[in-house]
Amino acid sequence: MSGRAAKDTAVPVVELLDATKTYPGPVHALRGVTLRVDAGELLAIVGPSGSGKSTVLNIVGTLDRPTTGTVRVAGYDVGSLSDAQLSALRARHIGFVFQHFHLAPGRDAVDNVADGLLYAGVPLKERRARSRKALERVGLGHRLGHRPNELSGGEKQRVAIARALVGEPSLLLADEPTGALDTASGAVVMDLLHELNAEGTTVCVITHDNEIADALPRRVRFRDGEVVHA
Ligand code: ADP
Repeated sequence: MSGRAAKDTAVPVVELLDATKTYPGPVHALRGVTLRVDAGELLAIVGPSGSGKSTVLNIVGTLDRPTTGTVRVAGYDVGSLSDAQLSALRARHIGFVFQHFHLAPGRDAVDNVADGLLYAGVPLKERRARSRKALERVGLGHRLGHRPNELSGGEKQRVAIARALVGEPSLLLADEPTGALDTASGAVVMDLLHELNAEGTTVCVITHDNEIADALPRRVRFRDGEVVHA
């Protein structure tokens, strides 16, 4: 896949046009969502439980396709891509951060972050070199050899953020990134996301926490599968 749209700031990073998602039941999880995220934004997707946040995250993260409507990520129409092309798009353009970190338990910070480049075809030595740089970028240069069980919750999340960033994605998708952290560690993680955004990363934080959302420059509010404020 060529880098047609990747670093072109005129192309939205994410574009949903009247996207719907219906699960068997039927459950209308998304009822016609139109949303544009430009390069360089830092935004929150907010809404109560069941409002469609995870569904939209899965679709924007190219883990799932919409039932109807158009979804473009980095300029690519995800509905027209094969599964292999979707995986390539995901590996190249999207970094994920999860509430519960999802780190490999037996592997140190360098190897956990290096795994973020597994699907990018980068040789191991370079993966590790880039991993060390990414860990330094998130303030963990002194924890390179630590395994997850030797790190605090906040440090684990910073390792996960380094892993998400090491491939220099067009978009960082963070799903409740502070949900498993105490207030102080959560604040450090949010400060880091602000910093990375100031350096140019487009960041989308999914949260049900209004206080976190209120501290971000843009809030997209979901209710019952619809955007009620963009
Ligand atoms: P949120 O992330 O805001 O809590 P979700 O996107 O998980 O909301 O869910 C939106 C709606 O879709 C809810 O009613 C939920 O029960 C339903 N839903 C989510 N995933 C599935 C699924 N795989 N199958 C059926 N219904 C689902």
